[in-house]
Amino acid sequence: MGLFEGADLIVVGAGFFGATVAERAAAAGFRVVVLDRRGHVGGNAYTYTDAATGIEVHRYGPHIFHTSSAEVVDYLSAFTSWVPYEHRVWTTAGGRVFPLPINLATISLFNGRLMAPGEARAWVAERAGGFAAPANLEEKAISLVGRPLYEAFIRGYTQKQWQTDPTRLPASIITRLPVRYNFDNRYFNDTFQQMPEHGYTAIFERMLAGANIAVHLGVDWFAVRAAAPDLPVVYTGPIDRYFDERLGRLGWRTIDFAHEVHDGDFQGCAVMNYADADVAWTRIAEFKHFASWRGEFQKTIIAREYSRFAGAADEPYYPIDLAEDRARYDAYRALAAAEKRVVFGGRLGTYRYLDMHQAIGAALRAWEREVRPLLAG
Ligand code: FAD
Ligand code: UDP
Repeated sequence: MGLFEGADLIVVGAGFFGATVAERAAAAGFRVVVLDRRGHVGGNAYTYTDAATGIEVHRYGPHIFHTSSAEVVDYLSAFTSWVPYEHRVWTTAGGRVFPLPINLATISLFNGRLMAPGEARAWVAERAGGFAAPANLEEKAISLVGRPLYEAFIRGYTQKQWQTDPTRLPASIITRLPVRYNFDNRYFNDTFQQMPEHGYTAIFERMLAGANIAVHLGVDWFAVRAAAPDLPVVYTGPIDRYFDERLGRLGWRTIDFAHEVHDGDFQGCAVMNYADADVAWTRIAEFKHFASWRGEFQKTIIAREYSRFAGAADEPYYPIDLAEDRARYDAYRALAAAEKRVVFGGRLGTYRYLDMHQAIGAALRAWEREVRPLLAG
């Protein structure tokens, strides 16, 4: 039985969902085998220090920790210390630069004059389309910010990001972003906004360090499952892949990250979005600006992000979640319910857009409600 010798539980995927369940199970005295097909722990939150420049790079795109859940912060604080960090994002549109999320400064700059909160609200309301019940991303965005701001900041970016007409996308995608009638330009509203002092990978190394946990990297579950003993499994890979895509493929979006090294400061901020449809990339992240407490660096590393549909060989990052995807996912979920000894979790396993704190919160609940009872029974 080799890989699984002495194990009580198999966890497929060493991202936040899998690592949290593994840590909880190990702390409760169970022996856990964690597999990941990648060569590192951390899933999409993985960070590494670039040897040439000393800069910490977020390998799969910028990850900013934000939550209003004290439970999640308490839990993670056993594995890291924190540095306060409030994320701010800028966007370029038509050769001009504006702050995001859309706030009073964005609306004032767009109109070329200072606007009072009530005046800006009225300006947006007059252009908000009068949708009684916005049915898709475009209608929802227009109802929130008005058509001119939608066309300047949202339509082109969304089209590039999802390669799908915004009228076919779910309204929920756009409600992630606040709209503010004041000059608060923090990207998030959450109570806790902070970065792990030593990076995300250090968190995973501590979570998975216990004597009860064996981590095997570069191992694909589907290459070993035929030989695996009959143990409870926590599966955090794509749900359609688990069932050999027998009901068809779910729609996923992937990102190509083009890294470049430059001298000095490239763009003067952590993230610059590019709203115009004729700029191929969606945004540029400059990693040293996420960690200013680490001091000055001579060089800088940036990543341009290019978004596209995920093919069979690509990493799936974002569920696209069109109506046909939702129906297909529901059918996969029915298959999953029949797998009594397997718990499906995380962003890929539940085909849901989850931030890190949501993946951790979901894992803590899954541990209590599903995994622990399976191990006990
Ligand atoms: P993942 O981290 O994807 O982990 C799943 C793991 O399972 C992967 O390591 C994968 O290799 C492994 N796996 C899959 N199939 C198999 C298999 N067959 N065998 C073995 N292993 C397998 N969240 C935030 O809170 N703030 C942010 O700023 C933020 N920015 C993001 C930016 C980008 C570009 C992306 C893509 C995501 C971002 N997120 C952010 C979301 C965050 O990445 C997720 O919430 C988190 O990664 C979810 O953890 P997970 O364990 O569900 O999935
Ligand atoms: N969005 C946009 N313009 C921007 C930033 C975001 O139109 O400059 C839209 C886009 O549809 C995106 C959604 O808002 O998918 C959510 O933004 P977020 O920053 O949460 O993007 P994600 O996490 O998808 O990268």
